[in-house]
Amino acid sequence: MVKVTIGHLYPKQMNVYGDMGNIITLRYRLETRGFTVDYQPIDDAGDLKLIKPDILIGGGGQDSNQDVVQGNLVKNKTLIKNQAESGAVMLMICGLYQLFGHRFIVSDHHIIENIGVLDLETKAGETRLIGNVVADSRWGRLVGFENHSGRTTLGSDVKALGKVIKGAGNDSQSGEEGAVYNNVFGSYLHGPMLAKNPEFADELIKRALKNKGESDQLEPLDDEIENIAAKIAAKRPR
Ligand code: GLN
Repeated sequence: MVKVTIGHLYPKQMNVYGDMGNIITLRYRLETRGFTVDYQPIDDAGDLKLIKPDILIGGGGQDSNQDVVQGNLVKNKTLIKNQAESGAVMLMICGLYQLFGHRFIVSDHHIIENIGVLDLETKAGETRLIGNVVADSRWGRLVGFENHSGRTTLGSDVKALGKVIKGAGNDSQSGEEGAVYNNVFGSYLHGPMLAKNPEFADELIKRALKNKGESDQLEPLDDEIENIAAKIAAKRPR
């Protein structure tokens, strides 16, 4: 039986608006297909050296919680970068998406350096961007819920994950939502994101299986409920 290890980065601090559901979704989609799931909560990113998860998931959090984990993340920057460069599959939502960028610009005099796994930077905004989001991606229509004050600008080494149809996305200006580099994905979508976007969830699984030298042909699942949930969420007002 093929075992897939799912690492969950800072589950205590970085886990809001149903982000834990991303883990539950992956577990369900793997176990239903006969894979074994090894769930590893990771409170110290240094543990990634031994755990080497097939899929690493991180969520969002308050600014104060981002401050709590930032030091540990930066301390382990090279380790995380190396894993990202060798093709590890990662999905970082909102607060950790921002922390995976180069820096967080709080004001002209206050810049927080982050880990730069993703070529992007985030600037604190005056207002919060809150509401339901719909974005078109290579993996179908993505729906979710955003709540962030940070405005994220992508550099040339990353591609946008999706094109915003409704909502603000990265910065409410560019029409872009999220970022992709190698097998590392970042997004502002909570909700949880993967539960309502089964095709994208399967993309993460396929990439992880490919890395393990396994077939990435996935048995289809009945996604009727997931697709209804996505349709309803997409119709909700901002
Ligand atoms: N604190 C960050 C911001 O407001 C991230 C928020 C979140 O993760 N939902 O931009």
